[in-house]
Amino acid sequence: MKLQKCPCCGETEVEAFDTCPKCGWCNDYASNMNPDERDMPNNDLSLNEAKAYYRKTGKPIPYEGTYYKKSKDQVVA
Ligand SMILES: [Zn+2]
Repeated sequence: MKLQKCPCCGETEVEAFDTCPKCGWCNDYASNMNPDERDMPNNDLSLNEAKAYYRKTGKPIPYEGTYYKKSKDQVVA
């Protein structure tokens, strides 16, 4: 597998379906191609939402449904 720059934070190199150690983004091709489409492996965040979250907080995107449950009606928590 080929390493590529993390599509979310751009600060690390990840393989396909790796989870980035910096921003927590799971590098799956579906959302890389459709950055506004919400994505199950990434806690129902779209790539653009995950980018905004990481830029705003500097933290990896939260998992296990916490983000989605708490901020269902907000774009970014
Ligand atoms: Zn990243």
